[in-house]
Amino acid sequence: MAATRVYLDHNATTPVLPVARAAVAEALHQVGNPSSVHRDGADARRTVDQARDRVADLVGAPASDVIFTSGGTEANNLALLGFDRPVIVSAVEHDSVMAPARLASAGFSTVPVDTQGVLDLDALESILSAHPNALLSLMLANNETGVRQPVREAAQLAHGQGALVHCDAVQGPGKVPVDMSDLGADLLTVSAHKFGGPTGVGALIVRSGLSLAPRQVGGGQEGYRRAGTPNVPGIAGFGAAARWMIESADPDVTSVARRRDRLEAACAEYGAEVVGADAPRLPNTSCLTMPGVSSETQVMAFDLDGIAVSAGAACSSGKVGPSHVLAAMGVADEVAGTAIRVSLGRDTSDAEIDRFVEAWKKLFRRKHPDLSTRLAS
Ligand code: PLP
Repeated sequence: MAATRVYLDHNATTPVLPVARAAVAEALHQVGNPSSVHRDGADARRTVDQARDRVADLVGAPASDVIFTSGGTEANNLALLGFDRPVIVSAVEHDSVMAPARLASAGFSTVPVDTQGVLDLDALESILSAHPNALLSLMLANNETGVRQPVREAAQLAHGQGALVHCDAVQGPGKVPVDMSDLGADLLTVSAHKFGGPTGVGALIVRSGLSLAPRQVGGGQEGYRRAGTPNVPGIAGFGAAARWMIESADPDVTSVARRRDRLEAACAEYGAEVVGADAPRLPNTSCLTMPGVSSETQVMAFDLDGIAVSAGAACSSGKVGPSHVLAAMGVADEVAGTAIRVSLGRDTSDAEIDRFVEAWKKLFRRKHPDLSTRLAS
């Protein structure tokens, strides 16, 4: 019998939680458009508003600040292009922040990170003083390396210079606590499919009082901030996943971190280097390099062994070429080209970690027959 597959790509997307699946199915049975005045419309509106309350609770914000979108990418675009201010981003932001930043009409600047992938706060300070009243966009944690950014400290500096702060927190919920006011963020992005909700739905949370130019016009939905009939079933699933995360929260997910650390230690005996190992990181993420073996070869070899991992940012489908994240950390192209991302879920078992480690060893031995004899002796 074929062995079951091992899914270690939770930063790309997560399995849909049973509660989210049930909420989507229930909403699909509703007929109303949430904008309609009749009772069926009111029922659909209630579904959306209930989910809005839950998503707001997840990040410690008022429900009226939540704008539902088609996912993290749209929410990031809405935030970055919503203000006529110079934009400042870290060098390791997701492409869905980088690309709109390049389009900002008032220009954009990039803040470097250190070799561990952590924002250079001194550089940020001087860029902020040269561009007062900017919009700073800084991610909570990097999708490729798991490295966490000092968002609270950066937000304090930014606010001191009259800047607004956007935080792409897509990789946060389900892994680390996310509290908008604790972070000092004025705008925050979340995405349902990264924590057990369905794909294609997310939210931008915008502090009340901030006026944001919509990207999508032609309807009064979401308080005229995002036109179009909302994805009611997706939003229902998003709300259910948010509620599940709040109720079942083990915000430090310590057992996940323990398993991830065991995986790293075992692979380190067979050539692995961990990118960003000395930085504060998400508990579930490892960015590993295997000397002399390309990322693509590794991803294919693991896949043949029944294990799903990714070469960097799997969410930008079909993307080839060196990662801008690893380049910003000063990782040489030839090393970056051997990096893979392994991202655990809450349900990843010890047996699954063992399967990965065995597959890693097998591939390493195959590619380094001389070295592996020495390692084994
Ligand atoms: N931001 C980060 C940090 C991500 O990891 C991703 C997706 O992987 C996104 C934004 C985009 O989110 P979505 O897939 O919901 O468009």
